[in-house]
Amino acid sequence: MKHFEKFFSFLSIGLIILAITADSSAGTLSGIKLAIDPGHGGQSGQTYNGLPGDPGAIGPTGLREADCALTIGARVRDLLTAQGATVYMTRASDVFVSLSGRTNLANSLAVDRFVSIHQNASSSQSANYTGSHVYTSASQNSKDLASKTVNELDLYHKIGVVSTNIGIRGVHADNFHVVRETNMPAQLVENSFISNPTEEQKLKNISHLNSSADAIFKGIMTHLGKTVPSDAVPPVISHSAVSQAQEGSALQISATITDASGISSAKLYYRARGTSVWTSVTMVKGAGEIYSATIPSSIVTPSGVEYYIEASDAFSPSNLGRLPSGSPVSPFIVNVTASPKTGTLQGIVSDQTTGAKISGAEAVISPGGQKV
Ligand SMILES: [Zn+2]
Repeated sequence: MKHFEKFFSFLSIGLIILAITADSSAGTLSGIKLAIDPGHGGQSGQTYNGLPGDPGAIGPTGLREADCALTIGARVRDLLTAQGATVYMTRASDVFVSLSGRTNLANSLAVDRFVSIHQNASSSQSANYTGSHVYTSASQNSKDLASKTVNELDLYHKIGVVSTNIGIRGVHADNFHVVRETNMPAQLVENSFISNPTEEQKLKNISHLNSSADAIFKGIMTHLGKTVPSDAVPPVISHSAVSQAQEGSALQISATITDASGISSAKLYYRARGTSVWTSVTMVKGAGEIYSATIPSSIVTPSGVEYYIEASDAFSPSNLGRLPSGSPVSPFIVNVTASPKTGTLQGIVSDQTTGAKISGAEAVISPGGQKV
């Protein structure tokens, strides 16, 4: 196993160097493949391909390890993908996948690194520390990956580590399936203790899970010799304002939205003029970096329409950008031309604006724009 793993480590490093040389402009992790493995999964009492669901450890008030692992894993995936990596999830929903199913996937895809994500548990409720596990005859790359990850997790959690059996702070050697049967450098992260009542409450907060994911991401980046981005810049939103419309015509709103860390969400907010409540709709990514959504025709009445665009990047802490920058207080305003009433306003028809959209000056939130 030892020589086998070393061979693959050597091979994968060779591939990484070739890929970066070939296409370094596409992202700092371009050409690198990783498998993210959220531990456990599925509901108790249900079966998945004939295997019983496995919630993992359960916190004092019922929080499931499987759910924490999936939320953290999905964000690690998003952060790595934003840097240009190709990321495969062993599971991306609440299902159970066998341990061999997880390692077979990583081996068949020949990923460069394998990261399994778990929450630890103990019969002692006071126990709470962070750590990572590698195989008993792990490669140096596995140990370095785990060590760098633990360092970042401990910087964030500040809950410390416990003594180790291989002389690397917070890293433990164990005969666990997913670190033994993977052909590439691999670690199994135990983020913190879900059995600790205080920690369980923190784990119910999405920002704690996100920050845990960010620490794992930073550990992977540092291990790979990459600079961790420090992104405090909101997404850049480029959009030609729609200033006029025809009554009863739905308005498609499109914007080019970009960010160095990638976009995690883009939303269109709209309302009829004179009303107070905004309706939001997710803008769908199309070709290039163009995001689009539609204001329904029922809103497009002679009283007019107001709208603005809001986007968040994939960095943590997330940066939020809005266009126009004064929104929602000062949104875009669309003047709506009334449709003619049959038999009474026929003379106006020839003066009607036929196009639903008129492009105005392009407005942009600059990269140095205010962080909202
Ligand atoms: Zn677990």
